[in-house]
Amino acid sequence: MVRSGTGRWETGRWAAGGAVMALGALAYGLPSLATFRRLRTRVTPGLAGVGRPDHVALTFDDGPDPASTPRFLEVLDALEIRSTFFVLGGMLERAPGLAREMTEAGHELAVHGWDHRPMLLRGPASTYDQLARTRDLIAETTGRAPAYVRPPHGVLSAGVLAAARRLDLTPVLWTAWGRDWTATATPANVLATLAPDLRGGATVLLHDSDCTSAPGAWHSALGALPELAARCDDAGLCLGPLAEHGLRPVSR
Ligand SMILES: [Zn+2]
Repeated sequence: MVRSGTGRWETGRWAAGGAVMALGALAYGLPSLATFRRLRTRVTPGLAGVGRPDHVALTFDDGPDPASTPRFLEVLDALEIRSTFFVLGGMLERAPGLAREMTEAGHELAVHGWDHRPMLLRGPASTYDQLARTRDLIAETTGRAPAYVRPPHGVLSAGVLAAARRLDLTPVLWTAWGRDWTATATPANVLATLAPDLRGGATVLLHDSDCTSAPGAWHSALGALPELAARCDDAGLCLGPLAEHGLRPVSR
């Protein structure tokens, strides 16, 4: 995915970094991030992915997965929607052709991590290595340098923020999720979970792989896409990738 601006940080975002790290640390010890997601959205809208009021960013985590991602590409193509995929380096390494296909279809690839272990369990060097290796592999595989990073579990450690800055990656979390990773997820309950937070400026988190989720959970996200697109359309909202989300260009 190509960042809409220069890809640099804004001063205000760094000023809010302490609050985000504290929230991340708190959230990590809890079974759900939902409470902190709402607080985080208020404290640091840029980090949460609040974009332009007529746009909703569609993002997927944990792929690319040959078992499921092609199905998402088919549906997105039919709906004429492009989106942002936060990929794991370990998955990308095994599916480079799929990653190129995603890029050629107009989707953005962004950095999730090399594997899915929470960054709080890593030291600064290991954190940097996770993000740098994934960034480099995306660039080598697709010919496009990624612009965004979303660490596993949304946990923004101090190491992630420092590494992101060095790598010129903008951290973006999410403002709406469908809890599509659970064993009981269905298209209907994914849509119902998304609904309260589905508004202009939202960044939607879904998953195009079950590699860290309940087996087959991705069917729920896939099945929710047509109705998600219809609801955005009905509300006059454009559904698309982060590159078109109007996140403010940043400088440092
Ligand atoms: Zn993930």
